[in-house]
Amino acid sequence: MNRTITRVTIPTLVRIKPGALARSGIYLDRMGHRRIVVFQSDGLPSDIIDLLKSALSDAKIEVTGWNNVRGNHFDEAINYFRSIHNQPTAIVAVGGGKALDIAKYVAFLCKLPFFSIPTSLSNDGFCSPQASLKIEGKRRSLAAAMPFGVIVDTQVCAQAPRSLSLSGVGDLAAKFTAIRDWKLSFHKTGEPVDDFAALLSDGSVHAFMAVPQLDESGLHQLATSLMMNGIAMEVCGSSRPASGSEHLISHALDQISVQPRLHGLQVGVATYWMSLVQGENSTAISNLFAATGFWDIIMKDRFPRSEWIQALEKAPSMKPGYFTILTLPDSKQQAIDFLTSDYLLSQCFRE
Ligand SMILES: [Zn+2]
Repeated sequence: MNRTITRVTIPTLVRIKPGALARSGIYLDRMGHRRIVVFQSDGLPSDIIDLLKSALSDAKIEVTGWNNVRGNHFDEAINYFRSIHNQPTAIVAVGGGKALDIAKYVAFLCKLPFFSIPTSLSNDGFCSPQASLKIEGKRRSLAAAMPFGVIVDTQVCAQAPRSLSLSGVGDLAAKFTAIRDWKLSFHKTGEPVDDFAALLSDGSVHAFMAVPQLDESGLHQLATSLMMNGIAMEVCGSSRPASGSEHLISHALDQISVQPRLHGLQVGVATYWMSLVQGENSTAISNLFAATGFWDIIMKDRFPRSEWIQALEKAPSMKPGYFTILTLPDSKQQAIDFLTSDYLLSQCFRE
């Protein structure tokens, strides 16, 4: 009999609560880790670093290397991998995207458990099976392992700039359009949809929509929802449950823009835009953005319209063969029409 077995790795330790950072040494110790390597984001506030350092020293955990991560180039990850010595038993990363991506990839190469400690919730990368690294100047999503531990201190995340949390909201909203694109691909190309992954992804965004705030309890749900999304990607072995046409537009913007903005801010606006073209979920998305203040931050600093039109044109080439609404022949013209006919969308752009 031919059986297909789903092999999934999910985080074993999950702590999402106020004060979690100060307890990170206790968590590592409980998991039997006495010797670790730390990666931190460059420029992380010193009180966060001090909190982690004292948490580790209180638990008498030896740190064999402490790396300050500035870039997210593949070659840097390889250099860090080469520098790992004295047999650590775990890799810990604290901070934002680049440090987490580099550390996740180094842990994957070393076959060591990875503990992810995001200090802001700007996207779903803190708990996903991919590492986003630059190779020859281009951002690539490389296969890596899911974190073994996820430690989110909601008090620390609440102190991060609001734009970062709103970026997380934008990245979460993308699940609406990503799932829609995935189902469209099933109907047009026969690409199988993993029902459980789609359900998990859908459920995660709806759970946050029930408490669309960015206070500590809202951030608790945002962290949980973004984490569930990472797990949905792991369940189906692809980025389909989290990334569709809206992500292709954002990836294109990263290459075209004079000044690319936060991933989730670009993705959020692209999500609303694509939902109009898909003809579904636009009201739910715009209500979520109104409740959280997402629209306000966008409209205070609008995007240049011409860059977005170029990005729309370029988007399908960002991932050849990846079927989305933008693969359909008339979709781009419809999208351009919405730039003027939809009031909210028109307010997101300047000349
Ligand atoms: Zn994303």
